Amino acid sequence: MTKYADFYRRSLHDRDAFWSEQAGLIDWKTPPQQICDYSKPPFVRWYVGGTTNLCHNAVDRHLKDRPDQAALIYVSTETGTEKTYSFRELHAEVQRTAAVLREIGVQKGDRVLIYMPMIAEAAFAMLACARIGAIHSVVFGGFASVSVASRIEDASPKLIISADAGSRGGKVVEYKPLLDEAIRLSSHKPDAVLLVDRGLSAMKLIAGRDHLWAPLREKHMDATVPCEWLESNEISYTIYTSGTTGNPKGVQRDTGGYAVALAASMKYIFGGKAGETYFSTSDIGWVVGHSYIVYGPLIAGMATIMYEGLPTRGIDGEPNPGIWWQLVEKYKVTQLFSAPTAVRVLKKHDPAYLKKYDISSLKTLYLAGEPLDEPTAQWISDALGVPVIDNYWQTETGWPILTIANGVEKAPSKFGSPGVAMYGFDVKLLNELTGEELVGAGEKGVVAIEGPLPPGCMQTVWRDDARFVKTYWETVPGKMVYSTFDWGIRDKDGYFFILGRTDDVINVAGHRLGTREIEESISSHPNVAEVAVVGVADKLKGQVAMAFVVAKDASTVSEERTRLQLEGEVMKLVEGQLGAFARPSRVRFVTLLPKTRSGKLLRRAIQAVCEGRDTGDLSSMDDPSALRQIRDLVASA
Ligand code: AMP
Repeated sequence: MTKYADFYRRSLHDRDAFWSEQAGLIDWKTPPQQICDYSKPPFVRWYVGGTTNLCHNAVDRHLKDRPDQAALIYVSTETGTEKTYSFRELHAEVQRTAAVLREIGVQKGDRVLIYMPMIAEAAFAMLACARIGAIHSVVFGGFASVSVASRIEDASPKLIISADAGSRGGKVVEYKPLLDEAIRLSSHKPDAVLLVDRGLSAMKLIAGRDHLWAPLREKHMDATVPCEWLESNEISYTIYTSGTTGNPKGVQRDTGGYAVALAASMKYIFGGKAGETYFSTSDIGWVVGHSYIVYGPLIAGMATIMYEGLPTRGIDGEPNPGIWWQLVEKYKVTQLFSAPTAVRVLKKHDPAYLKKYDISSLKTLYLAGEPLDEPTAQWISDALGVPVIDNYWQTETGWPILTIANGVEKAPSKFGSPGVAMYGFDVKLLNELTGEELVGAGEKGVVAIEGPLPPGCMQTVWRDDARFVKTYWETVPGKMVYSTFDWGIRDKDGYFFILGRTDDVINVAGHRLGTREIEESISSHPNVAEVAVVGVADKLKGQVAMAFVVAKDASTVSEERTRLQLEGEVMKLVEGQLGAFARPSRVRFVTLLPKTRSGKLLRRAIQAVCEGRDTGDLSSMDDPSALRQIRDLVASA
């Protein structure tokens, strides 16, 4: 048995001893009394009775050995800002922020919704919430008012923290008007809104509700706010993710299990050591931002880079597709974490940019969030001369399900495969109709995980245990098992290959989108009778959303000019409601949509036609002319 195979086996079959050892990677105020309570499957409680705090583990515990070492390195190529906070300075800023939250009346268990651009204050806010036991719910800054409103409604926050604006490619993106509209749309109203004024856009403050960050911070410069010790299973945060319904799900995470899972992943998967520098190019609005911009690297005592900007623009605002490598050189980055789409963007530029800087500090590049195609992996691996490691996971799991644990034992990567099952994840491939386990090499099945899920994974859907059970654990017949909703195969060496989603979730540039959410937004246009949204393969972004619409008034789409006008209106609507990243790449008009005789939309057949693939069995289809229209549209494009 290889060293990793034994490590993996112990994580499942000698579970309590294995995870008890990992618990030693973090600080506990009181040690856990029970490692794993799985008496009420599929709900699991890790480290029962132990008390700890995420902010203590990320910040305070490093004050003894590394107070003056860099902790948070903030870089914005949008505003030309670079600022490094040592652990001591980060500790002071987080306490100031915690004192402000307290002054506003935020208590343990209250929700704080964070809708912010990539600025240092966003990290202070997250850590301050963790410090006082408030539950943060960070909403990606690219979301627009309707998406933000549904999250406010569900999280019912006491406080919302935001800013005047973000910036993208030098263009100011206002947040405050979108937030005001989102609060107007939501039936839940927060008591207070705390706003960072970056001086990018004028804000109209609402008296009694809106507060500015800077003057409140000034009042608490010397604040001392102790960490609230939380029982391991108390909630640290929720993060919303898309599914097959229009309603996003609040993925709820614990405190102790999450801290241990991150600490262990930094050691065994990312090989990150205290004093090194981690650079994840993601955003705090996504799970990667929670785990590997804020908490993971800091728990490991590393410096973490928080980056606002494009991969192709320099600190002076001029085009520079070498900016990441420049940062690697300057801050001696050891681990870089990004997404395949970003690498595909860089691939379009002169590879000389990669050679311009001294990147000898870099040990490994990690890519995740979407399938990594072989040409992209090969190109970046050749260009950097360091190993490129794919990792497959989900918002729900919080850390990788499949990858290579080089910190346990060095193993080769295989292009096209994210790797093998990680310790703690009892990954199975199942026949989706019978639930039968597929054990033969190359057999295609649903990627499923036997309970209990390891530490760090979602506890439940926020305020909806029934939805958690029904959505994730009851999809495979005759078995209570967690479904990832991905298809996969495994080769004879145990390496998995992910073959796409089993549901209607699409992945645009590593961002997960529910086609239902986009359809609901498009349906709110007065001239839309019906709509189908599908994900279509795209060379750069992996997938893009494509919409097929039946107009209420057919005469409006009979001419090219009015057709284009309606297409523009629909795109603008989605941009205004959900955000620019959810906007379909095209809106095409048809007179009817392909459906089964019982009225179910045949999204997969539409997708296959758009991608020039075989549609498979269409015997249940009602009217074949519907698919023919789409075929003609695609052929004429
Ligand atoms: P999210 O929760 O937004 O991170 O999306 C998770 C989904 O993204 C997974 O269920 C997969 O469909 C896809 N995904 C994430 N990482 C990978 C990867 N390394 N390879 C292939 N698909 C991935």
